[in-house]
Amino acid sequence: MLTLNWLKFCLALTISAYYCMKTIGLIGGMSWESSALYYQILNQKTKEILGGVHSSKCLLHSVDFDDIANLQHDGNWKFLAVKMVQAAKKLETAGAQLIILCSNTMHKVAPEIERSIGIPFLHIVDAVAEQIQKKSMTRVGLLGTRFTMEEAFIKDRYRDHFGIDILIPPSHERDLVHEVIYEELVKGIIHESSRRSFLRIIDRLVLEGATGIILGCTEIELLVRPFDTEVPLFQTTRIHAEKAVEVALGEST
Ligand code: GLU
Repeated sequence: MLTLNWLKFCLALTISAYYCMKTIGLIGGMSWESSALYYQILNQKTKEILGGVHSSKCLLHSVDFDDIANLQHDGNWKFLAVKMVQAAKKLETAGAQLIILCSNTMHKVAPEIERSIGIPFLHIVDAVAEQIQKKSMTRVGLLGTRFTMEEAFIKDRYRDHFGIDILIPPSHERDLVHEVIYEELVKGIIHESSRRSFLRIIDRLVLEGATGIILGCTEIELLVRPFDTEVPLFQTTRIHAEKAVEVALGEST
């Protein structure tokens, strides 16, 4: 009898969790290689928490990355902000209750998005910094596009909001990382030689004092995997997507 009641209680909990599940709105396509990974992780994490055949309630607004990459390299961030705000608003109108932007680089326009919507926006840095703090690390390396590594919008948020110092590679290595992202990873091309170069850059950042490395571009975890190195890696796509599920299920704020 007790077991039956317990089973009913567990079932009720699972059902109520499902009905309370928020719909996650993804601004993706930057690139679709990493958006596909986001989609997979959202569903895997939802199933891990709720069990059975549960999957994530989500909406995807996917852009043409060719437009985005050209605008980024032309420095037209005003127009990029307009495009991202439009995408976020569309997702909100379609029923999204939480927005995630599936690119570190495009968080340059996160303030404009946050200002324009009435639903929560889960910033990628906040999700990743939480995991870095759990490991009590205060000095980590950052790999990403040149925009992400060189400009203030990501590094300053780690430092000012979370007390995490960011180390970046020297200029010629930043060029290499940027090149591999735009010429290989966003096209789904994985070269062993690029993996070896990234691992060498990671080792050098560790020699300079980094205790972990942020894979601060949502495609890098397709190239460098945790089993490739003993250095702790912070996979921004995985961490961001898993955090979004926890928030959507009310397991985290
Ligand atoms: N997905 C990448 C990032 O996380 C790079 C592509 C883009 O520029 O959006 O930064």
